[in-house]
Amino acid sequence: MSTEAPNAVPLLEMRGIGKRFAGVDALRDVDFDLRRGEVHVLMGANGAGKSTLMKILSGAYPMDAGEVRLDGVPVELKNSRTARELGIAIIYQHFSQVPHLSVAENIFLGREPVRFGIIDYRRLHADAREAIAQVGLEAEAGEPVLNLSVSRRQMVEIAKALSLKSKILIMDEPTSALTQRETATLFEIINSLKARGIGIIYISHRLEELRDLGTRVTVMRDGRVVGTRPIAGTEMSDLVRMMAGKEIVRSSGRAATGARPGREALRVEGLERRGKLRGISFAIREGEIVGLFGLMGSGRTELARAIFGVDRPDSGRIFLFGEEVSIANPGTAVARGLGFLTEDRLNSGLAMTMGVGGNISLPSLPGFRRYGLALDLARENREAGRLIRDFRIKTSGTGQMVKFLSGGNQQKVVFAKWIMAESRILLLDDPTQGIDVEAKEEVHRFILDFAHGRGRSVLFISSELPEIIGVSDRILVIRDGALVREVGPGEASQELLLSLALGAQA
Ligand code: ADP
Ligand code: MG
Repeated sequence: MSTEAPNAVPLLEMRGIGKRFAGVDALRDVDFDLRRGEVHVLMGANGAGKSTLMKILSGAYPMDAGEVRLDGVPVELKNSRTARELGIAIIYQHFSQVPHLSVAENIFLGREPVRFGIIDYRRLHADAREAIAQVGLEAEAGEPVLNLSVSRRQMVEIAKALSLKSKILIMDEPTSALTQRETATLFEIINSLKARGIGIIYISHRLEELRDLGTRVTVMRDGRVVGTRPIAGTEMSDLVRMMAGKEIVRSSGRAATGARPGREALRVEGLERRGKLRGISFAIREGEIVGLFGLMGSGRTELARAIFGVDRPDSGRIFLFGEEVSIANPGTAVARGLGFLTEDRLNSGLAMTMGVGGNISLPSLPGFRRYGLALDLARENREAGRLIRDFRIKTSGTGQMVKFLSGGNQQKVVFAKWIMAESRILLLDDPTQGIDVEAKEEVHRFILDFAHGRGRSVLFISSELPEIIGVSDRILVIRDGALVREVGPGEASQELLLSLALGAQA
């Protein structure tokens, strides 16, 4: 339990918080509070507003409306520095650490002790050792953080927060990358922080894991707080209902086009990859969009990577158009008619410093060499130009570097390149993540046309419920590396998908 009486002035009060992005309400009239020594869990489906609320609290975004009080006193969170000075620390999923710098340098980055105008390494290391000891981290102060595992890097972040005398610690899904043992260690540390009166805001959907640790849970949906409950006596199914809310189930475009799926395009049988994928079997037919829904770390990306030959599965069979194939690497996958749009288009989806045209024709190069030419540049350019028009890619021309395009237009370049490569099966990993509404709708239209219009096949991974329900013909739910169930178009609802993905009783 919290070390504080519920009626005392809370450590943190956020009242009536509002935030708009480009005319869209990301947060509306949000109330949230945190007591000393409390772990307050924050839940909500993707896009509910959790991260935005926490970014406001940590000074990363200004708020458009509302008030924040610390110990009952109104404060102004001008920027991340003022938030930090007020004792608010946020631990991001993707750490802001400098990998080649030492543990000590990362903890005291920008505030290293100085003596005679130079960094006092002796004191830096002594201070760091003290901070490391507080979180029970076994690491040398001088060790580069890139040597550390994800969990130990997380400990470094916590050590940093403590050295800043933080009173409020924000953690965004901290255990999604941790093993059970590492999670246990993290929870021991969190318990000791609670005992010291530090308040912790903890974004996670793993309610059972948090039973002993957490005190209250707040659920957000569509930028609003749905409710706050004590964790004791609250069931995951209650929270799922709060997260999902009321809805109108829209079925996919299939009903409208009347298109029927054709022969089997892709079949996966008993795919296994140690610790990641467990006995995955499913099939996709021509003309079908099969959704794959799962939470972060559920194995959805690993599944796509294994099919595309990025990671080698330990066992299992893959069939393309009825023929068993061995996909040793992405090159083989592309030659076999597969295309893969990765979740992380910045790192693996595009060659950022290459031109739009060059990116579009990248996987098709063997095709251009078919006629004995090294490269038929004229044809390449013509085709790329046609696709730029078809996809309405906003660019100054085929030569413009991809890095200067907006996220939505970059995503369209990726689609264009797979069309040019004549892919018959596309694996799409969260293709609309982080792009604007208009580009999103175009991506949806593209997917529907690719499958229902051209009779091709799509495995559609998405973490957004309305989207995956709206676009897919049927949906597979993945949890802890295994397919839990297939959900047909008639029964697809946010509540059902969430409860299957979370492992809650529906
Ligand atoms: P959650 O963390 O619960 O998944 P977010 O806070 O990331 O949700 O997003 C809430 C809403 O605000 C979403 O509709 C999202 O698209 C939008 N949003 C978040 N950050 C930005 C941004 N920088 N620009 C525009 N829209 C944003
Ligand atoms: Mg988030």
